[in-house]
Amino acid sequence: MANESNNFAELISHCKEYGYIFQSSEIYDGLAAVYDYGQNGAQLKKNIRDHWWKSMTQLHDNIVGIDAAIFMHPTTWKASGHIDNFSDPMIDNKDSNKRYRVDHLIEAHAEALALEGKKEEEFTLLKTMDELLAATDYAGIKKLIEDNRIKCAISKTCNWTEVREFNLMFSTQIGSVAEESDTIYLRPETAQGIFVNFLNVQKTGRMKIPFGIAQTGKAFRNEIVARQFIFRMREFEQMEMQFFVRPGTQMEWYNFWKAERKKWHEGLGIPAEKLRYHDHVKLAHYADAALDIEFEFPFGWKELEGIHSRTDFDLKQHQEYSKKKIQYFDNDLNEAGKPFGNYTPFVVETSVGLDRLFLTIISLAYANETWTKEDGTEDSRVVLKIPARIAPTKLAILPLLKKDGLPEIAKELMNDCKNSFMCFYEEKDAIGKRYRRMDAIGTPFCVTIDHQTKEDNTVTIRYRDTMVQERIALSEVKKLVLEKMG
Ligand code: ATP
Repeated sequence: MANESNNFAELISHCKEYGYIFQSSEIYDGLAAVYDYGQNGAQLKKNIRDHWWKSMTQLHDNIVGIDAAIFMHPTTWKASGHIDNFSDPMIDNKDSNKRYRVDHLIEAHAEALALEGKKEEEFTLLKTMDELLAATDYAGIKKLIEDNRIKCAISKTCNWTEVREFNLMFSTQIGSVAEESDTIYLRPETAQGIFVNFLNVQKTGRMKIPFGIAQTGKAFRNEIVARQFIFRMREFEQMEMQFFVRPGTQMEWYNFWKAERKKWHEGLGIPAEKLRYHDHVKLAHYADAALDIEFEFPFGWKELEGIHSRTDFDLKQHQEYSKKKIQYFDNDLNEAGKPFGNYTPFVVETSVGLDRLFLTIISLAYANETWTKEDGTEDSRVVLKIPARIAPTKLAILPLLKKDGLPEIAKELMNDCKNSFMCFYEEKDAIGKRYRRMDAIGTPFCVTIDHQTKEDNTVTIRYRDTMVQERIALSEVKKLVLEKMG
């Protein structure tokens, strides 16, 4: 297909126009970095979530799923280190009062250097930044910004404050009257709901190490620099899995999940060359190894998923703060193959943002295509080539005319299929127009019922990606769609 363009601004407006993503509270001019998913977006998000859930839980006999509450006892966040450590280094421009996360500010400058072909300078800048951040050398970071003459995008000046840390957690009050109230936090990650339930799940599920606990759910972070559409939101959804292993085996499992998760993304249709690993130089306070699986978003390579070896930090912290023993009795091994006894398991975590994965899928799927037809004239369409397995609507059922018994046949097919997958029925407008609308929302198959259907019980099926049409038996439609969904 000639001339495919992939413009991010176009994609954002397409998402709005076709019921995928709306700005939150739009009628009040919106709320920054908060988004609502529309009728097609909610279904796509659910399909991605279900796919992740199935591959984690149903397809791994040693992983189970839970659904912990967003609110947790406030001591959770003291124990996890989030109250003391969950902050980002920020810098303010004194002229514009605009606040930046220092890594974002420096990375944007590095990107500009790369665009100018100054690859070596880009490399040195990012390497120095990583080293300074790893050493928590904020004076050094400020000097790096000044030495590189990195300017504020608004004031265009280099007049910066000192680098300071800002906590990212949202707090609120629990309790009916103010005097009784207590500060609690909206969880900034779903993982802690898994850690505090470790023993509940292990005991009630009779789980044997190594085993995992998976969870999907909302997380909240007061991101100061919220940008790039649904890439960085203040309210978002995570899909996390904590895998509990014997101490000393964590690197083995870290490497296992590193490979496994990249493979999973590829299985979802993300091309291997659009994914890469990025090892962390600065490790979080709980980790002994960490990396990001990055995707090449329309605005550059960015984190899609984190793989973290979290040691026994979290379970040990909860044990200390709760004063409840959180250990696992391992009755395997020994005669010096070791365990056989109690220990605190180590944890390897896989953590992917559902919204970021949504953005990945939709930015890969979006195409603005033009081509020359046989008669020499130009034609074009906007299409979302979402993999059939996760597309919001699988099949459009379109009677060619609104009469002659065609709608009746179409509705019968609809009734036969709708229990198995999401269908859409439409009888308005010319068939070409209906096909284009289905392309735009990403429906992989359209079936047209015409007069020939009445004669020989065949229909025209049209494939979204190739626009090829073929005649198949009406009775084969459901089977074909189910097969293609995989
Ligand atoms: P970043 O460096 O981009 O802020 P992070 O390293 O803080 O991300 P993690 O704490 O590892 O992110 O969270 C795990 C996953 O949750 C990320 O890989 C990402 O997909 C998702 N995520 C984190 N913060 C956000 C956000 N503000 N909006 C959307 N998704 C997010």
